[in-house]
Amino acid sequence: VLPGRTVRRTRVVKSDILGTSAWTLTRRLKDARLRSVDRRGKNIVIRTDEDDVLVVNLGMTGRLLFFGAGRSAKTSHPAVRFDLGGEARLVYDDVRRFGRVELLTETEWLKRQERLGPEPLARSFSPSQLHDRLQHSRTPVRTFLLDQRRIAGVGNIYANEALHMAGIHPRRAANTLSRSESESLHRSLRRVLRTALRSGGTTLRDYRDANGNEGRNAPNLRAYGRASLPCPACGHRIRRIVFGGRSAFVCLRCQAP
Ligand SMILES: [Zn+2]
Repeated sequence: VLPGRTVRRTRVVKSDILGTSAWTLTRRLKDARLRSVDRRGKNIVIRTDEDDVLVVNLGMTGRLLFFGAGRSAKTSHPAVRFDLGGEARLVYDDVRRFGRVELLTETEWLKRQERLGPEPLARSFSPSQLHDRLQHSRTPVRTFLLDQRRIAGVGNIYANEALHMAGIHPRRAANTLSRSESESLHRSLRRVLRTALRSGGTTLRDYRDANGNEGRNAPNLRAYGRASLPCPACGHRIRRIVFGGRSAFVCLRCQAP
């Protein structure tokens, strides 16, 4: 819905989520035509005809909501409003404000995204590439998966789901995975991400798509958030453990430590 539209006016309500000054954002976006919408890692990447790149990272509770003409643009915690003319609006809304909105030049964005790891769904991302990367790290494999510099776009839900599906304990040191375990993790990671995308994302509480709708992937979760419920593969109880400051969900029968 965005390509072809022009930003008439930008209003910053909460500037603490900005990675760019409010002045820069509002001035450089004025009358900019939106060209394309992409994703890289966890970033929504919106390009303008002026070769500027609006990068939105939803953080924990961010929502990027589109309101066409005639739809009331009421949101609970708006941080930035983009007036797109003809009563259409794009609103970045964020309750806890861990998200980030910034306007970069194409060059700045290219430099920034070089720091991100490969896209797990890219055709070029191979099982042996994952295995090689795992071999260079002694960190717990769940922590490895969450590190955006090693692999881009994987969060805690999908890391836990992929590890459960692959039968790998989240705390295993990355470099202890055998080649066949890396292959299994590669397959599971892609399967989990594709299923989630097809289902419009996972809404446990906050996530909404651009139309304000919840994702439908939560019923597909096999381990995440299912502490003390039976493992769908073996019936053993799923346990919640905490390390690296984040919850992990594990079936000790399917995922031996
Ligand atoms: Zn199990």
